[in-house]
Amino acid sequence: MINLKVRILVTGAAGSIGAATLHSLRSSHELIGIDNYSDYYSPTYKSSRVDYFNLNSLIKILDICDFEKLKQVFIEFKPEVVIHLAARAGVRANFLDLTEYIESNIMGFNNLAKLSREFNVSRVIYASSSSVYTVNNKTPFTEADILHYPKSFYAITKQSNEMMATYFASESTKFLCMRFFTVYGPWGRPDMAVLQFLGKSIKGIKPKFTSELTIQRDFTFIDDVTRVIGESIDIKLPNQHDVINVGGSSPRSMSDLINILEKFGLELEFDTFPPSNEDIKFTHASVSKLKSMGFTVPDTTLEEGIQKTYDWLVAPNAQIAVNAILELNN
Ligand code: NAD
Repeated sequence: MINLKVRILVTGAAGSIGAATLHSLRSSHELIGIDNYSDYYSPTYKSSRVDYFNLNSLIKILDICDFEKLKQVFIEFKPEVVIHLAARAGVRANFLDLTEYIESNIMGFNNLAKLSREFNVSRVIYASSSSVYTVNNKTPFTEADILHYPKSFYAITKQSNEMMATYFASESTKFLCMRFFTVYGPWGRPDMAVLQFLGKSIKGIKPKFTSELTIQRDFTFIDDVTRVIGESIDIKLPNQHDVINVGGSSPRSMSDLINILEKFGLELEFDTFPPSNEDIKFTHASVSKLKSMGFTVPDTTLEEGIQKTYDWLVAPNAQIAVNAILELNN
């Protein structure tokens, strides 16, 4: 019998997309995950997420900036595919302390790319972000659009990764860039609006909000994202480096989101603050390329996705998630 299992290294494995990815791939592939359990948000919450998905035996605690230890993983595990999700996430940064962005997002990417080439990994699937697009791009955002200088330092690191990937990509080590659009769902990132709004209002605390109800996001449900990642392992890649938008092309406004949440009987009162210079006013993914390459386009409606997220968050085992949401002053 032919063994179709692929040996896959997943970085950022304790993170929201990483853990869900390991969970969705574990029955069909041979996996190893690495994560340094960074404290950008609660490491305890990350551990609970890993426990929930029963992933402890698959994940090594390791920093991708530690080149020698990372190299050891390549020597021992011999990955055929790398899914690189580790990063310092979050667009709102303090310009006085950008070290973690530079180390994890730039140096870490360099280490992964270099080792992937050296060890003949056949494809590197890596996370970029909708935040590389700016107000200068017309909607829907298409992958062929010219990128302008982004507003946030985070987006600068992601755009840098895309440029670095074109340098490292070759016929034998192809790179596939996934520009994720506002991923949310159970065990999601506690700093993001959906979990902040849900978690805080469940507890009767006012979430912070930029007061711009017209801001639009192309919200993408986690299961749709892991399906695209799964498909990317063996889909035909026409070029050494390809870029795809991972979103559903269904942008919704903040007032839509609030209306949906209010249907759960939540009273959404906000502490408002002026919009951040780093937040773009709208995101809208074109899905033409995703479709033409043969991927399944994300299709979970915001109503369905929020229902699933709400059901998870009010269950007793999600108290740790509520704590992680409350401890962030977002
Ligand atoms: P996450 O913060 O939940 O996961 C990232 C994981 O990477 C964390 O568990 C963290 O501990 C780990 N990590 C950070 N630095 C590391 C290092 N130096 N060594 C090893 N591990 C390290 O974030 P996420 O939402 O799951 O995002 C995954 C990827 O997708 C990131 O690259 C992020 O920038 C990108 N992305 C996410 C979204 C989204 O909406 N969630 C949108 C666009 C892009």
